[in-house]
Amino acid sequence: MQKQVVIIGAGISGLMAAQHLRQVGIAVTVLDKGNRPGGRMATRPFEGAIFDYGAQFFTVRHERFASFQRAWQAKGLVKIWSQGFNGQSDGHPRFIGSGGMNSIPAHLAQGIEVRCAVKVSRILASGKQWSLETDFDETLTADALIVTTPVPQTLNLMDFEIADTERAALERIEYDRCLALMAILEEREDLPEPGVKQMLEGEPVTWIADNQRKGISLLSNAITIHAGPKFSLENWDKSAEDVAAQLLDGRRATAWKLHRWKYSKPSVMHPERCFTVTAPSPLVLAGDAFGEARIEGAALSGLSAAERLQGLLLP
Ligand SMILES: Cc1cc2nc3c(=O)[nH]c(=O)nc-3n(C[C@H](O)[C@H](O)[C@H](O)COP(=O)(O)OP(=O)(O)OC[C@H]3O[C@@H](n4cnc5c(N)ncnc54)[C@H](O)[C@@H]3O)c2cc1C
Repeated sequence: MQKQVVIIGAGISGLMAAQHLRQVGIAVTVLDKGNRPGGRMATRPFEGAIFDYGAQFFTVRHERFASFQRAWQAKGLVKIWSQGFNGQSDGHPRFIGSGGMNSIPAHLAQGIEVRCAVKVSRILASGKQWSLETDFDETLTADALIVTTPVPQTLNLMDFEIADTERAALERIEYDRCLALMAILEEREDLPEPGVKQMLEGEPVTWIADNQRKGISLLSNAITIHAGPKFSLENWDKSAEDVAAQLLDGRRATAWKLHRWKYSKPSVMHPERCFTVTAPSPLVLAGDAFGEARIEGAALSGLSAAERLQGLLLP
């Protein structure tokens, strides 16, 4: 009988896992609490402009991921944005989704059963199956699970005994926060090519990008500002008005919107690409906390989790 496989999280890791399992003949259902797939690869319209307000670009270091990037590029789904920021080239391409970063997960979700606006609130072991409680008092069952939510959230969801060593390894993982401001400025921001000012390790601001010059917004002066991890932590509970004023730093905006990324990028990671939890039924964790803290790492983690699960289901 066909095993019921559920993936929690429709970010790039969950969707790469789902596509791999689909290709080897294992049907999956992907659940996500968001209104659309993509997680931190987030693009949204606001006041007539389009903003990438989570991940800004991706890089490619591994041949396995390069094969996906080439296929996406051949389809026109992704393109090279630049070979460096602040007007300088280091020769390494930075890729973006042609219609914004979210167009990549939107593409990956095609052909997969993705149920959005479903927040899993508890994972319980029930005999040889998993029982998933959702915020709508619905209980779903699964024979095998891949969980790609940020690890502190995953630990909160897992309502069953796990080995102390496994819990300790997972509790070591930490994430930085990021306050992200989308703003439509009254005046053009003077940014170097390709319309980006990147301040690595910068505080209070690490990143300013012009979404029109990026090619995703028709409206001009639509900028994304990312705060650094220190500023984000220290100002996390401040009002949106207060944070916006600090990040705008005297610039005048006709409209703005703040997004708070509690789990932005892992600052302490697990070294392996995925993590099998010892339990009566298969449970594999994936995401950017496993291996490399970026889009490529999350994608490769999803593939690794799918292969691990495939091995457990089809020995
Ligand atoms: C501000 C910012 C800037 C970044 N910039 C870059 C960059 O330029 N380049 C780069 O490579 N990386 C960047 N990153 C990191 C990159 O976005 C991530 O590494 C990658 O997108 C993570 O993918 P993921 O699938 O592991 O997790 P996610 O994308 O977070 O996916 C997890 C999914 O789980 C869902 N979920 C969570 N809890 C539940 C629940 N209880 N029930 C159901 N669903 C749930 C979420 O809605 C989410 O969709 C950035 C991230 C942020 C926030």
